[in-house]
Amino acid sequence: MGHLSSSATLDVELQAKVSALGRGSRHDVCASTSSSRSVSGFRRIGAVSFPGVCQAFTPDGRCVSLFKTLYTNACTHSCYYCPNGAMSRGCRKYSFTPEELAKIVLKLYKENYIEGLFLSSGVGRDEERTMEEMIEAVELLRGKYGFEGYVHLKILPGVGRDHIRRAMELADRVSINIETVSSSTMGEISPSKDYLTDILRRQSFIREEMRRTPLPAGHTTQMIVGGAEERDLDIFRRAVYEYRKMGVRRVYYSAFTSIEGTPFEGRESVPLQREKRHYQLDWLHRVYGFSEKELFCVFDDEGYLPAEDPKKRLAECLLDGPVDPNTASFKELLTVPGIGPVSAGRIIRIRKRRRIESPEELSELGVALKRAWPYLLLRGWRQSTLRWWGS
Ligand code: SF4
Repeated sequence: MGHLSSSATLDVELQAKVSALGRGSRHDVCASTSSSRSVSGFRRIGAVSFPGVCQAFTPDGRCVSLFKTLYTNACTHSCYYCPNGAMSRGCRKYSFTPEELAKIVLKLYKENYIEGLFLSSGVGRDEERTMEEMIEAVELLRGKYGFEGYVHLKILPGVGRDHIRRAMELADRVSINIETVSSSTMGEISPSKDYLTDILRRQSFIREEMRRTPLPAGHTTQMIVGGAEERDLDIFRRAVYEYRKMGVRRVYYSAFTSIEGTPFEGRESVPLQREKRHYQLDWLHRVYGFSEKELFCVFDDEGYLPAEDPKKRLAECLLDGPVDPNTASFKELLTVPGIGPVSAGRIIRIRKRRRIESPEELSELGVALKRAWPYLLLRGWRQSTLRWWGS
C-alpha cells in the first residue's frame, strides 16, 4: 500500500485486500470520483493519490486525507461501466469484516495518515447485509474505539430505511449516487438498478431523516457525465432538481471512463473538459446564485455546453455591453468572467468612497483582469472587440 506499508504493518493477505479495495474505490462510481485521469488547470475533488488514501475537501474548505475504500468489491448489480459489476471480468473479490476495517482505520488515524473514512461498497450478495456490516464497522469505530474523525458513508441502492437512519446517526455525511438523469437513461447503463425505487426513493428517505438527524456535512450525490445518451442540459436539470427537491449539499460529476473488463470497455471515454464544464455551471448556480432560467442560455441548440467557460456565454446573454464597475449592479459585476462574489463585493464597497479609474485597481480588488477586461468599461474606454457588442 505505497509508503504506508513501512509503518502501518499489515499481513500480506490483508495488504492485498486493502490495496484491491482502495483501488476499487478509485474507479467506483459509488464514490465521489471515478477517474484518476487529470486535466490541466482543474483540481479534482477526492482524487486518489495511492490505493486507499485520497485528499478531499471538507465543507469548511479544509483539505483532509481520507481512507477511501470499498467494504467489498463484490456486487450483484451489473452496471456496464463498473469493474465491480457482476458482468465485469478479471477482478478478484475481497471483503473486509467490520472488526478488520475498524482496526485498519484506527491504525491509520492514530499514525496520522488520515483524518477520516470514506466508505463505499459494492452491494455484495445482498445490499441489506453489506450495509449492516458497513454500519457495524462504523459503530465499532465510534463506540468501542472512540473514533471522532470524519466519516462519509455511502448508502447502497435499495437498502431499508432503518439502515439509512442508523448510518445517518453515525456519519458526518451520507450519499447515494443517482448516476444519471432518468429511468430510461439508467436502463442504458445498468440493467439491474431501478432508478425510482433503488435510488430516488432512498434519497427521499435521507431527505426526510435529515429533519430528525441533521448531518454535519449534509448529503450528496454524483452523476456520470456521458455514461448514457443524456445531454448536458438534462444533467443540469437533474442537478437543479437534486438541490431544490432533494436538498443535497453537493452534486459531483464524473466523466465516463472506459474501463477494461467492463461491458463498456470498447466505448470512448468522455473528455474531462466536459466534466469541468459541469462543475463550472454548478458553481454559477450554487455559489453565484444564477437561476436555472438564466443559465439555460449557455447551452447550444442541441442542449450541450460550450467548449469554453460557460460564464463567457452567460455574459454574452445577460449583458447588453461592457459594464462600468463604477455603476454596475452586484449582479452585473458577478456576470463578468473573472469577477466573483468576493471581488464584486469589494468593488461595491470601494466605489462608495472613490471612483475606480484603472485596471490595476481592479486587479488589486481580486478581479482576474485577463478574463474580465474585455467585458469592462473604464473612463469611457473599453478594450472589448467582442463580436456581439461590435467593436
Ligand atoms: S451498484 Fe453498480 S456501480 Fe455500484 S458497485 Fe455495484 S455494479 Fe458497481
